[in-house]
Amino acid sequence: MTIEKASQAAYLVAALLFILALAGLSRHESARLGNTFGIGGMALALIATVALAIDGDLSGTGLALLLVATAVGAAIGLYRAGKVEMTGMPELIALLHSFVGLAAVLVGWNGYLHVEADPGGAEAAALASQDLLGIHSAEVFIGVFIGAVTFTGSVVAFLKLSARINSRPLVLPGKNLLNLGALAVFVLLTVWFVIDPHLWLLIAVTVVALALGWHLVASIGGGDMPVVVSMLNSYSGWAAAASGFLLSNDLLIVTGALVGSSGAYLSYIMCKAMNRSFLSVIAGGFGIEAGPSDDTDYGEHREIQADAVAKLLSTAQSVIITPGYGMAVAQAQYGVAELTRKLRDKGVDVKFGIHPVAGRLPGHMNVLLAEAKVPYDVVLEMDEINDDFARTSVVLVIGANDTVNPAATDDPSSPIAGMPVLKVWEAAEVIIFKRSMASGYAGVQNPLFFRENSAMLFGDAKERVNDILRSF
Ligand code: NDP
Repeated sequence: MTIEKASQAAYLVAALLFILALAGLSRHESARLGNTFGIGGMALALIATVALAIDGDLSGTGLALLLVATAVGAAIGLYRAGKVEMTGMPELIALLHSFVGLAAVLVGWNGYLHVEADPGGAEAAALASQDLLGIHSAEVFIGVFIGAVTFTGSVVAFLKLSARINSRPLVLPGKNLLNLGALAVFVLLTVWFVIDPHLWLLIAVTVVALALGWHLVASIGGGDMPVVVSMLNSYSGWAAAASGFLLSNDLLIVTGALVGSSGAYLSYIMCKAMNRSFLSVIAGGFGIEAGPSDDTDYGEHREIQADAVAKLLSTAQSVIITPGYGMAVAQAQYGVAELTRKLRDKGVDVKFGIHPVAGRLPGHMNVLLAEAKVPYDVVLEMDEINDDFARTSVVLVIGANDTVNPAATDDPSSPIAGMPVLKVWEAAEVIIFKRSMASGYAGVQNPLFFRENSAMLFGDAKERVNDILRSF
């Protein structure tokens, strides 16, 4: 068998392994196996690609460069993956998506330099003989466009998720027209480039797409960022598929399509869970206008100490714990699990209410609670538990904020209006664990803190949970 045939066979096996990986990742019992399939598929794909390149016209210097680049990339990847905190995963993923986008832009430009910029060359002649020059130009243009949008969009997502820039939505005057205008310019320039492939057209589309990607994600507010991350995941898939067409690489096309469609489907499911319009979010917050700045005076908040919370809990009949991002930051899940055991031993009915976007990645809270060995059967989804709050003695809001904000249901002008939230305020007593009165990820004030049945337990969530355990 020739190297080429062997590589094609390896690509087919790798594609199957990627499909098995996706299937495995859809359930937590099989997620580990799914990851193993993915790693296997990627290793096979890399080996087959290097073998193909060596079998082709790769020079000694080219091979050396390829090996050095692979070694450097692998070393950085291993280092970052080993060091990353669970709370830093979304920003790492956003950064990785930006690399896919950048790679697609470079592949597109490379395609241009080899064919359109060198009309007398062998590659251009081969394409011209099959009447495929126009198709190639369209592939270059579309690949560069999707790649550049993904690149800057992911960079902005990274900056927002890592709190390097404000997560509030950017609202430029006529922002929807700007987005639509950029799309119209892209279509126009594509037609022009296919007819007459000039360098300046490629420069123009790169600049327009870079600006569009930046603007699309900058326009989306903090509360909608989970959807943006999965949407960029989808874009990065389509960018990879576009590169696959340019490089005539079937595996890249299959993998790109898998990532693109699964990312789009995840975005759709998340939009439904968040009561958001899918089209509005992918169009950069289309139809979302700037809300009035929140200078409402909600009154005074009430403070409580850990020993008083311990007393309250020992007389409670039922307790619901709603964890959020702060529990992950404080790594309070082990203390929370211990508290759950102690309360259940005393005969208190303890349950957990998990919001679909609590924390910073889908399933974040479930993973932390499973890690701390909290039994699965007391961990309920938002829809399963939302009617129980009214019958509950005490709710412990541990490091959650946006996901328990009543403004989402009560205030139509709030940036998170319409987002389903955990109705913790319906319980008899609500204790909120956080370090200050600061707002959550969406940057929206939370009227829950000022309600009569709410009390703030200030400090690091882990320390305060341990204080309560000591007080028992
Ligand atoms: P929020 O981000 O709204 O609030 C977390 C709260 O935790 C903060 O108000 C903070 O208050 C508190 N906190 C931080 N550190 C500590 C600590 N050490 N001890 C005690 N409290 C602490 O969290 P939610 O989980 O309620 O909501 C998630 C938000 O993130 C949503 O807006 C969601 O849209 C967004 N998001 C979700 C993603 C996902 O896929 N799940 C991805 C990207 C964004 P203080 O500083 O006063 O302590």
